[in-house]
Amino acid sequence: MEFAILAESLNKMESTRKRLELTQFLVELFEKTPQDVISKITYLIQGKLRPDFEGIELGVAEKLAIRAISKSSGIPIKKIEDEYRKSGDLGHASSVILEQKTQTTFLMEDITVERVYDTLFKIAKLGGNRSQDMKMKYISSLLNDATPLEASYILKILLGTLRLGIAENTVMDALAIAFSGNKENRKKLQHAYNVSSDLGKVAETIATKGLEGIEKFEIVLFNPIRPMLADRVKSESEAIEKMGNEFAAEYKLDGERVQLHIEGDKVELFSRSLERIERYYPDIIEKIPKNIQADNIILEAEAVAINENTGEFLPFQELMHRRRKYKIEKAVTEYPITVNFFDILYCNGKSCVELSYKERRETLEKHVKEDEFAKYIPMKIVRNENEIEDFMENSINAGSEGLMLKMLDKPYQAGSRGSHWLKLKREYRNELGDSLDLVVIGGFFGKGRRTGNYGTLLLATYDEDEDTFPSICKVGTGFSDESLDQLYQILQPKVSIKKNPRIISDMEADVWFEPELVIEVVASEITLSPIHKAAFNAIRKGAGLALRFPKFTGKIRVEKAVEDASTNEEVITLYKGQKKIAHDKNLM
Ligand code: AMP
Repeated sequence: MEFAILAESLNKMESTRKRLELTQFLVELFEKTPQDVISKITYLIQGKLRPDFEGIELGVAEKLAIRAISKSSGIPIKKIEDEYRKSGDLGHASSVILEQKTQTTFLMEDITVERVYDTLFKIAKLGGNRSQDMKMKYISSLLNDATPLEASYILKILLGTLRLGIAENTVMDALAIAFSGNKENRKKLQHAYNVSSDLGKVAETIATKGLEGIEKFEIVLFNPIRPMLADRVKSESEAIEKMGNEFAAEYKLDGERVQLHIEGDKVELFSRSLERIERYYPDIIEKIPKNIQADNIILEAEAVAINENTGEFLPFQELMHRRRKYKIEKAVTEYPITVNFFDILYCNGKSCVELSYKERRETLEKHVKEDEFAKYIPMKIVRNENEIEDFMENSINAGSEGLMLKMLDKPYQAGSRGSHWLKLKREYRNELGDSLDLVVIGGFFGKGRRTGNYGTLLLATYDEDEDTFPSICKVGTGFSDESLDQLYQILQPKVSIKKNPRIISDMEADVWFEPELVIEVVASEITLSPIHKAAFNAIRKGAGLALRFPKFTGKIRVEKAVEDASTNEEVITLYKGQKKIAHDKNLM
């Protein structure tokens, strides 16, 4: 397939931020794509080469790209840098530069998507001392044969600056329309995506095997499954109302969710946002295979830091000490953990997600042996408010955050938040009844002690319908000097030149970030707001919702994907809940 087709399509997509238009451009592109390149196209439009969980990074530095442009065009580096400074986008600058190209190549070859993809893949795989020269050779060989428009997109992909804001849902809408003629089939694609986390594979399946192939889509060991999530409830009575008269209550431990894929001694670990995290948990890799009584298995557990003397669970922040680049072995001895299993998704070559909670728990206990390091998460079948209250007390005393409540007869719903799992947390400090997990979308530079740091952050909820991040508040309190530094380190690489189209805000932030980080805040109240965009028009026309007196809790939720942040719906529920409490108080 000619790369020109993709470049023109990317150019069109870059010019819009309307989801429907974007979907239409994608449909047109998919319709022009031969079956054997469909997965490559699917990764490339998202600026990737493979699904995220494979961790393949292009890692090309700007300097190197500038040298490559210079080499293939004959234009001096200084001139390219000047052009780059003007537009702030090297991809764009390169197309301007190449229009003025002085060197002409006589045997210009057409470049194909396959060639670009294979070359980028080679670049990503290169390592070692000589790799810079090799990388440059590969890049300039592509640029030699590329038109200015093609060059601009090759560079954007290479540098990781292709930011079209195409969400997975939009890609799935387009695939459903292009290959089944009906957007409603998105749900079937969604299921396939939820159990594979690999959009390229989903695209290839629908293109080659149609809906039938998608319906037969199976879980594959070492391909992470998107986690099931829980709705929240505020009280025991609300839980009973939603769950009926008999359900499971489990401790809600405050650690890191880990998905374990195991076959013999081979172990792969995925975080909640499906990143590979083996490097932080060499103890899990070493010890857990001994506890498994199956040929192969996929399990979910919460890894929790513990006090080795008392066995008490310690908060999430303790565990985060393991997230460092060097001296992991030291952190492993200093911050011991236990692994607390709560689900089984696959066993001996067969999927377990269709089994009921009860059957899964039995299967889990049959195939995983407990010891000092590996535990089943404490669970009790509860039938009334008193039993929940009692178990909640035990859980809080053991150092956990509250309870997870799970329906006994329901399957595991990969990738979705639903009412089959509920979380009930104990938070006294917080008048809203729960903390919110919000997406960091913008920053304002600090003054005084905070000079050189972001003193205030602009935060957003997740709008599930629109797949966007509307602003809900600015937060400037609750930060320690240490957390400010840490946030700066994390956020600095996420600064983007242009506001990502999925960000909805009229504010003038000093910097915009790619929406990739979630932090936890508490607040005193939710109010109607003329400036913020969360739940806009939902309560009152022309107004959104905002948090009053928001405060950062100190928890940087690196383990959360932005799509797991608090949603508009949740904020609306909290808003209505507080209205009800005020109303009830007035009546008393
Ligand atoms: P939240 O982060 O507040 O949305 O709560 C969901 C998270 O709680 C999950 O992603 C897990 O990391 C964690 N968790 C702790 N205990 C459990 C449990 N028993 N079942 C499921 N998730 C749990």
